[in-house]
Amino acid sequence: MAELDNLREKINKITLEMLKLLKDRTDLSKEIGSKKQSLGMTISDETRETQLRDNVLKLSKEINLDEKIATKFLNFLLNESITVQSKDKQTHLAIFLKAKELEQQGKKIIHMEVGEPDFQPPETVKEALQEVYEKGYGKYGPSKGIPELRNSLAKKISKQYSYITQNNIMVCPGARFGVYLAITNLLNPGDEVIVIEPAWPAYSDCAINAGVKVRSIKTTLENNWEPNIEQIQDVINSNTKMIVLNYPNNPTGKILPKKLQDDIVEIARKNDLYILSDEIYSEYSFSNWESILSYGYKKSIVTQSFSKSYAMTGYRIGYVIADEVLIDKMASLQALAITNVSEPIQYVALQALNADISNNKKMVKSKIDLLVEKSKELGLQFVKPDGAMYIFAKIKDDFNSTQFVFNLLDDGVALAPGEGFGDYKNFVRITAIQDEKRLIEGLSLIKKRLDE
Ligand code: PMP
Repeated sequence: MAELDNLREKINKITLEMLKLLKDRTDLSKEIGSKKQSLGMTISDETRETQLRDNVLKLSKEINLDEKIATKFLNFLLNESITVQSKDKQTHLAIFLKAKELEQQGKKIIHMEVGEPDFQPPETVKEALQEVYEKGYGKYGPSKGIPELRNSLAKKISKQYSYITQNNIMVCPGARFGVYLAITNLLNPGDEVIVIEPAWPAYSDCAINAGVKVRSIKTTLENNWEPNIEQIQDVINSNTKMIVLNYPNNPTGKILPKKLQDDIVEIARKNDLYILSDEIYSEYSFSNWESILSYGYKKSIVTQSFSKSYAMTGYRIGYVIADEVLIDKMASLQALAITNVSEPIQYVALQALNADISNNKKMVKSKIDLLVEKSKELGLQFVKPDGAMYIFAKIKDDFNSTQFVFNLLDDGVALAPGEGFGDYKNFVRITAIQDEKRLIEGLSLIKKRLDE
């Protein structure tokens, strides 16, 4: 007994020592963060992380510590550093909230920072909203969604991908929640997820929230926003569990060439990775696009939504398509968190599926074309989008777009700063979905600031 007490005493001591070291490490990390900020450097630095990872692996071998545990512990520490250093990062959401605050004070703002259709949902939605009460939709329901909606979605999707049934579908409150469920319930703390940047910030934010380490793959305007396969191959290790794809992409509008997408899927297969494919902009594809469902890969998870395609952002409804086993795992967290998606809204979405939305695509395309034309006149550098609803434009080299975005807010225009999407401080994302007059007015205010 005395021996056990002695060992326990030792373990207590080590644990407390580790906490003191963690405090020292966190303080140092904050200091490094403010230095990096003043030097205009980015928060994550893959080269530095790789050096540290190599040292950790070397030491684990020397002291005979399980490499997997060691690197998971390292991932926890790296995520802590990122969290303390990210406090001041500005995303489009932060700008949106600031813009809303200014509007409350009576200022007029042209919103070119949010990705929200400016047109109405289909008429069938209006009718459904009126019917829902009479029909009695308003009870608790199955966590995966009402069978009528899952069935209708399955019918629609299986026309192209015949293996999909309603067991492969879970209705959720928006694609965002689908992303959260997939990352939170399929991955474990210390696991790694590959995110190709620039990227919608929620993938990394969900990962960090779940204790999952993000391995970012940086792509560039010069390389047409295409990741290279070696880059992806190089970051894969035994902790890598998932790769996130989002094409047509937010913010670049990029669609991957077929061969490159095939190669990425092949890498995922070989390494037994989940593919989380966020296909929320698929209805707004203006060149050849192929869903990840076309590969029939068991470990793929597709997130979809009524937000963009049916202009139903505020209705908060989307869905996840995946293997039944994965759907069950994600549904367990959904049941825990929200019981089920609002039944009335599910009924409304069911009726939305009956509408012809082909005109939305034409509308979005013509708005993008206008934005592309006008932005070229401003001398902004960007790759012409293959889809989605944005351009991701470089203002110029060595430029602080976040400061620029804040200055523009004073002029009455809100833009999304590039730093919200990764290491792109001199970029901004501009939303095309505006009426023509406001779009032109917004761009001319941007020009005025650029000419200063
Ligand atoms: N994925 C991407 C790539 C997005 O751009 C957005 C919204 N901006 C979402 C998901 C969120 O969609 P939802 O409204 O369905 O949650």
